[in-house]
Amino acid sequence: MENSKEFRKWGYKFLDYIADYFDNIEEFPVKSTVKPGEIKSSFPKEAPLDPQPMDDSLKIITESILPGITHWQHPRFHAYFPANNSYPSILADLLSSGFGVQAMIWETSPAAAELEEVVMEWLIKMLDLPRNWHGVIQDTASTATLVALLTARENKSNFQINERGFKSNKYRIYCSDDAHSSIDKAVKIAGFGLSNLIRIPVNELHEMIAQELDLQIEKDISNGFIPLAVVAALGTTSSVAIDPIEEISKVTTKYNIWLHVDAAYAGNAMILPEFRKEIGSLEGVDSFVFNPHKWMFTNFDLSAYFVKDKDALIRTFSILPEYLKTSSYGKVNDYRDWGIQLGRRFRSLKLWLVIQSFGLSKIQKMLRDHIEMGRWFESKINEHPDFELILPRVLNVVVFRYSAANDPKSFNEKLLQEINASGEMYLSHTVLSGKYALRMVSGSTRVTQEHMQESWDKIESTARKIASTTQGK
Ligand SMILES: *Cc1c(COP(=O)(O)O)cnc(C)c1O
Repeated sequence: MENSKEFRKWGYKFLDYIADYFDNIEEFPVKSTVKPGEIKSSFPKEAPLDPQPMDDSLKIITESILPGITHWQHPRFHAYFPANNSYPSILADLLSSGFGVQAMIWETSPAAAELEEVVMEWLIKMLDLPRNWHGVIQDTASTATLVALLTARENKSNFQINERGFKSNKYRIYCSDDAHSSIDKAVKIAGFGLSNLIRIPVNELHEMIAQELDLQIEKDISNGFIPLAVVAALGTTSSVAIDPIEEISKVTTKYNIWLHVDAAYAGNAMILPEFRKEIGSLEGVDSFVFNPHKWMFTNFDLSAYFVKDKDALIRTFSILPEYLKTSSYGKVNDYRDWGIQLGRRFRSLKLWLVIQSFGLSKIQKMLRDHIEMGRWFESKINEHPDFELILPRVLNVVVFRYSAANDPKSFNEKLLQEINASGEMYLSHTVLSGKYALRMVSGSTRVTQEHMQESWDKIESTARKIASTTQGK
């Protein structure tokens, strides 16, 4: 493809391909059914020497790639958390690829830097975050949490660990028993050591107990440790449990500890005033991350990171080699100093076009619809004698299991396996309070009440079938 005429021709075809994909998405098995190695073995071991015709490549995409796709945009994708997208997001991402800018500093594309400022400021208002926060786009919540812990580390050590490395490591990080594995990863990478990640017990709703946090910190201080940061979950991955942020912030304020909030999923729902109200004040929070790439119709990847002390963030990451010196330095946001990577994609474009095209009201309506579907599914579980809720639903995530079996764990494992193998829908599981449980999430861009009914029918009939063949009851 060597000229714009060819590009145009194939561009139309590829767009048609995507549009057809969405029109026919329900015909695919939601979870890919290929075996390990199957896709790889269908490709040649050597790269082609000569240009290959686009027709052939498109055929390979259909025949060899598509079977190995798990259809995250399928309306009956109910596993994990969604990574939902939307038409405006896809188009903006395409445009971003077309511009092909590398937005490391303001000068290398002022529009990328300034549009990022615009959408981050929009998000602050949309989620009613403290107005003195500053936002920056990171690739993922994992990166944002690492950035938060590194900033906390430098802030506490007066920026000395950056200069000299650890003299001795007495630092401790705290999170709940149910916190995300990205915190373990960040603690490893930042050099604290996993043994200094202290898990605070949770209550029966799997929310961190602030009083236990206070006791642990007090104990650690008297033993010579230096409490550095708390990572509170605003929506855990297993069950969307919400740690009591306000209460925790009283503890972190008392001991002068950095408070990072991991709101990767549930943070999206803060654009609903009725949910935002439940969270309370965030004034005591130092940094906060949520993923529009999960539940705000914005293609993976785009993670929104906010920090109160922008100077501490920048001082942690800034570098200024001669070749990056510019006359605008200090007057504009050079985002290479706001995180780990130097090179950055023009990500704000897709989030801007999503918000611009949907408007706040449409995003709010879709989230409310998803939550309503979760409420409906929860009522189905509650009404059925053979199923039980493991925990009360939060937002659009229902954690449940088939409870009428002698061995609930193996029954529910079998149930999950059969449901997913059917290709009709996709669920994932968790273990909560020692109970193996299934998770139902209704967050796809395309999910409707009819899909939820079909999914529930599938779960119920599969359970009945297993029960009758195994006399599992
Ligand atoms: C999904 C999730 C993450 C990880 O998100 P990435 O953007 O994939 O790194 C972290 N924390 C919680 C609570 C999550 O749900």
